[in-house]
Amino acid sequence: MSIDGLPPLREVIERHQLAAKKSLGQNFLLDLNLTGKIARAAGDLSNVTVVEVGPGPGGLTRALLLHGARKVVAIERDERCLAALEEVSAHYPGRLEVIPGDALKTDFREIAGSGPVKIVANLPYNVGTELLVRWLTVDEWPPLYMSMTLMFQREVAERIIAKPRSDAYGRLGVLAGWRTEAGIAFDVPPQAFVPPPKVTSSVVHLVPRAEPLPADVRTLGRITEAAFGQRRKMLRQSLKPVGGERLLEATGIDGTRRAETLSVAEFVALANAFRG
Ligand code: SAM
Repeated sequence: MSIDGLPPLREVIERHQLAAKKSLGQNFLLDLNLTGKIARAAGDLSNVTVVEVGPGPGGLTRALLLHGARKVVAIERDERCLAALEEVSAHYPGRLEVIPGDALKTDFREIAGSGPVKIVANLPYNVGTELLVRWLTVDEWPPLYMSMTLMFQREVAERIIAKPRSDAYGRLGVLAGWRTEAGIAFDVPPQAFVPPPKVTSSVVHLVPRAEPLPADVRTLGRITEAAFGQRRKMLRQSLKPVGGERLLEATGIDGTRRAETLSVAEFVALANAFRG
């Protein structure tokens, strides 16, 4: 038995024949101390619904419940995992709801119900960035979630928290910096996972800003995409497809600068000039 009174994860995986599938981005965490550390990084869970993407055999799910999450709603695409998750659900009556399906096709507002929500996940790497961008670019702000505590490859984590004038700074850094305060909570070495991925991972904690600078999210996305699409070029060149000359003049931003030197506020100014 593990500390939560459920069988050890290795046994669960063996009994339910959950050999990891690469196509589903499956790298499982079996150490309840580590999953507990992730749950703690999400802060107090006692009064919130935790939305988890990809519970797999249930390692992180169990830690979230053990650390007192009022309720966990978990979306899992791999039907093989459902029986194992059913056992966790039975151990914590009324506190775990498993939704079979694809997180990319899920309406998170619908599944989260009412009340405060935190998103916590050891994300499948193949869809992690796309999900984060969707969560960062929702129309309604403040968003559904109070915070997001998410595992990424270290290199992606660095792009999320990147500041201007760094190599990692790009569209992700602008979007995350605009709407949230983001930081790396801790790194997780490859050998913590089964099977081990090739690279180090990091847990990133993001808290929505109450009042991000006003901007239209789609326009901001378009401007950053154009600017970083040709990140080595000067802005007067890279922004041409979005009418750069007018935008640079309206904002007083020097067209000989390059995208990576611009602050989030300057990107917001360009986006507002585009619409103005
Ligand atoms: N949470 C478990 C853990 O920490 O050990 C598993 C994490 S594993 C990195 C990613 C999980 O996401 C797998 O269980 C995989 O089946 C699931 N998954 C992959 N793509 C998905 C999708 N589009 N929607 C929902 N779950 C998905």
